[in-house]
Amino acid sequence: MKLTTHLVSSPLHTPFITALRTATHAESLLVEITDGDLSGWGEAPQVWKVTGDSLAGSQACVEGPIATALDGLGPDDLTEALRRVQNAAAGNFGAKAAVDIALHDLAARRHGQTLHGFLGSTVDVVRTDVTLSVGDAEALAAAGRARVADGFDVLKVKVGTDAKADVERVRRVREAIGPGATLRLDANQGWSRRDAVNAIRALEDCDIELVEQPVEAADLEGMAWVTDRVSTPILADESVYGVRDLVNVIRHGAADMVNVKLAKCGGLAPARTLLELARSHGIRTIVGSMMESHVGVGAAAALVSAYPTSAVNDLDAAWWLREAPVAGGIRYEGSLIHLPSTPGLGVTGLVS
Ligand code: MG
Repeated sequence: MKLTTHLVSSPLHTPFITALRTATHAESLLVEITDGDLSGWGEAPQVWKVTGDSLAGSQACVEGPIATALDGLGPDDLTEALRRVQNAAAGNFGAKAAVDIALHDLAARRHGQTLHGFLGSTVDVVRTDVTLSVGDAEALAAAGRARVADGFDVLKVKVGTDAKADVERVRRVREAIGPGATLRLDANQGWSRRDAVNAIRALEDCDIELVEQPVEAADLEGMAWVTDRVSTPILADESVYGVRDLVNVIRHGAADMVNVKLAKCGGLAPARTLLELARSHGIRTIVGSMMESHVGVGAAAALVSAYPTSAVNDLDAAWWLREAPVAGGIRYEGSLIHLPSTPGLGVTGLVS
């Protein structure tokens, strides 16, 4: 097996604006593992503000300790290879996810199967929500109407700045899109405990499906305090990277749901463990992604087709790309993601 890395930058068709940054491109490290004439692909997105993973750091981790750990292993040793990837370094979940995905993709191709088929799925369409870029109430309402016209029926609104203004903005979006579409909120750790309870209670007549990460990631007591005081389900995102974090959330009763992301937990193998652990403890699940391309999102889509989650998943990232860095792979049609029918992730190579 030979391991190669590629740095890619893919332009978005619309700037993606959050409270933390404005993105015009998706920046990723793609990992290609070749065996004979087959290539497996994986992706590590740049996520400075959440995991702290950079492209340079991910590249160094993949080409250094992970490559060393895999040295001498054959492509048949998938389970051992996946274990070595996770043990090769501390942190570096993006790098681990990229190699874990590429190893799964390569294994599926060696069996002549799609990645989702290899994972045990017979479902080749999954649904996604779409996130509205941050803006004032009017801009958000317009974006909400536009995305519904694009065929999306689950909209995610970023909140977590000023709680009172957040309530007004969300009300305007609900008015603009009407009662038919589902609305979910993501505060990205931006509220205090009290702001969170006040804002969520104030919006309980707006039919909010869930509120993601209302308070700081490390404040599990605070998140439990919020969860106890509102009817709207609370979804842990930044609070949960790996299994130990999910166990802590369960112990604290900090959330009703967890958002599993490959770039937080280190790939498909740890993600499966998280989904099983959550289910066995009555924690509902969704799978999300960072700003990444058809490789990383394709792997997450394959995962949820084989391991169904409790609510519509958060896999719109690659929809934002004006140009994909790779040919082939998943295809969007409104809120539907069509999985490929060709082997692995269906990716045939880099777009030059
Ligand atoms: Mg989130």
